[in-house]
Amino acid sequence: MRVAIVGAGLAGLVAGRALQAAGATVQLFDKGRSPGGRLATRRIGGATVDHGAQFFTARTPAFARQVAEWQSRGLVRVWSRGFGDNDGHDRYVGTDGMNSLAKDLARGQSVSCSTMAFAVRPTGDGGWKVVLDDGAEHAADAVIVTCPLPQAFALLIDSGVDLDESVFRVDYDRTIGFLARLDGPAALPPTGGVQNGDEVFSFIGDNAHKGISTEPAVTFHASPAWSEANWHEDHDTLARLLTTAARPWLGASTIVEHQLKKWRLATPRTIWPDPCWTTAGGRIVVAGDAFAGPRVEGAHNSGLAAAHALLG
Ligand SMILES: Cc1cc2nc3c(=O)[nH]c(=O)nc-3n(C[C@H](O)[C@H](O)[C@H](O)COP(=O)(O)OP(=O)(O)OC[C@H]3O[C@@H](n4cnc5c(N)ncnc54)[C@H](O)[C@@H]3O)c2cc1C
Repeated sequence: MRVAIVGAGLAGLVAGRALQAAGATVQLFDKGRSPGGRLATRRIGGATVDHGAQFFTARTPAFARQVAEWQSRGLVRVWSRGFGDNDGHDRYVGTDGMNSLAKDLARGQSVSCSTMAFAVRPTGDGGWKVVLDDGAEHAADAVIVTCPLPQAFALLIDSGVDLDESVFRVDYDRTIGFLARLDGPAALPPTGGVQNGDEVFSFIGDNAHKGISTEPAVTFHASPAWSEANWHEDHDTLARLLTTAARPWLGASTIVEHQLKKWRLATPRTIWPDPCWTTAGGRIVVAGDAFAGPRVEGAHNSGLAAAHALLG
C-alpha cells in the first residue's frame, strides 16, 4: 500500500512509522522547514527553548510503551511530578528539547519538508493524489491528513468526500509565546515550571531547569484568553506588554534577548470521541490531537489509530 501523509507533526510521524513497519510505502509532506509541528524547539543566541509543547504525560499503555522506549535510549527524562503539588504523574521532556523526539521518529522515513499540500483529490481509478502547491502531484492508495482541522478541511474540500461538519467545525485556542534569554537565573519555584501562575500566563517553563539550555532562558505562554484579546497588537506592543508581565518571574535577572511566537491553532477546543476519522471506504483518514486529546499523548495515539485504520 502506498500512503501519503500530510503533516509530519507527532501524529503523522507515528502513523508513518507504524505503516512503514507493516510494509507500506510512505511519503510524508510538511510545510514546515523541519518535522515536528507543535513539538518545537529553537535556539536564541546560545540558549535552547521549547516553544510549543513544554512537557507531556503518559497515561495510556500505548504511549507509555513509546515513552519507555525513548527513556531507555536517553531521549526523554522526567522533569517533575506536577507544577505545584506532586500529583504522582511524571511530566516528561525531550532530553535535547521536544523537537528531538520528532527528529527521532522521522529517521528512516521519507519526509518532504517545506512542502505545502494544496489539495487531496481522487485520481479517477480508485486511488488518491496529493496536489502540492507547486502543482506537483503525488499518487497514493490512501491518504492520512494530520494537520489541524481547519487546514484539513481546506485540503479535503475538493476531494468529493462528505466532510462531516461536526468533525471539522472545531475552533482552536490561540497561544502567544514569549521566549526570553536572561543574563541570570529565573526566579521560578523549585519545579522550574508554573501553571496558571497569574492572569497573563498559562505556563512558564525554565529551559535551563529542564536541562535543555546551558544558558538561562524562559518560555512564557500567554493564556488563551489573553492571547485572543491581544492577538492583533503589533509586535512592539506585545513585546512591551509581555516583558512587563514577565518581570515578576525573573528575580534579579534581566532579559537580554526575546522572541515572540504566535500559535493561531494551538489547542483544539473540542475533541472528537474517536481516535481518528475515516472516509472514502477507509482510504482517507484524518488524525491529530483533535481526536485523541489536545496534547502530545493524544497526537501520538491518534497517529497510531490512523495507521491501524488503514492496516485493518
Ligand atoms: C503553545 C503550545 C503549548 C503546548 N503545550 C503542551 C504541553 O505542555 N503538553 C502537551 O502534552 N501538549 C502540549 N501542546 C499540544 C501538543 O503540542 C500537540 O497536541 C501535538 O504536538 C499535536 O501534534 P499533531 O501531530 O496532532 O499536530 P501538529 O504538531 O500541528 O502537526 C501538524 C503538521 O501539519 C503541517 N501542515 C499543516 N498544514 C499543512 C499543509 N497544507 N501541507 C503540509 N503540511 C501541513 C504543520 O506544519 C505541522 O507540522 C502544546 C501546543 C502548543 C501550540
